[in-house]
Amino acid sequence: MNELTDQNLPEADQQLPFSAILLDMDGVLFHGMNPIDGAMGFMEAIANIPHAFITNNPIRLPQAVADKLEHIGFKRPLEKLIVTAGEATAAWLAQQKPGYRFFAVGAEGLHQSLSQYGNEDPENADFVVVGEGEGIDYAAITTGINLIIKKGARLISTNPDTSVDAVYQGKRVIMPGGGALVAPFVAATGQQPVTIGKPEPLLFEIAMQVLGVKASDCLMVGDRPDTDIIGAQKLGIKTALVRTGRFAPGAVLPLSMQKPDWDVNSLSELQCLFSW
Ligand SMILES: [Mg+2]
Repeated sequence: MNELTDQNLPEADQQLPFSAILLDMDGVLFHGMNPIDGAMGFMEAIANIPHAFITNNPIRLPQAVADKLEHIGFKRPLEKLIVTAGEATAAWLAQQKPGYRFFAVGAEGLHQSLSQYGNEDPENADFVVVGEGEGIDYAAITTGINLIIKKGARLISTNPDTSVDAVYQGKRVIMPGGGALVAPFVAATGQQPVTIGKPEPLLFEIAMQVLGVKASDCLMVGDRPDTDIIGAQKLGIKTALVRTGRFAPGAVLPLSMQKPDWDVNSLSELQCLFSW
């Protein structure tokens, strides 16, 4: 706790410097199907503060994310409070081209998210959407690059993470993220993708819209400086980095990064800090 002395601590009788909270999930609330120490208590403590969940992970639909949170032992959140990169991508595509045609490379949840407002069309897709999870192979890359080069489809990446921390077959491992999986398409076509997830603003904006709050009202809690923290800072959202995911306590943050407003080892520490 020594590190905290120079941080922006609120006086006991002062109002919190924010009125809503945006939460990343992987590395903040859970690893795989295991809750992170302190996460349950933290969620109970902030139950009456408006909050939403934003994740760059496009693999699960909001309903499946809510199921997962409930299964782990958290109170089940309303699905509209869960903003995934897959959902945000679908919303963005619908705005660009109502009734869009798409070719998706990624997990089943991505196909389902995109099918809400558009139709799969590997022959004449308007968009080639690359997300995380299984689904990429030689045939998918071939179809995708032909759509882009020959038919003028736009390349979309659900999220820029080059690697993600995951649990695979019971082990904590590093897996390729959306930013890595889109790379072969970029190399083969020379086209840069439109990227949807954090640190781009769309997920934050959708979450704030759902909560009916503005950037200066919010605190973003995340474990990744490159996406959670930088993305929030760009919008003027206050930030708390928890060192339960990508960065362990004491690990040095990238020099290029502006410091988060709060840098804590765990959610319990953040909870203490605000006397929740
Ligand atoms: Mg995370």
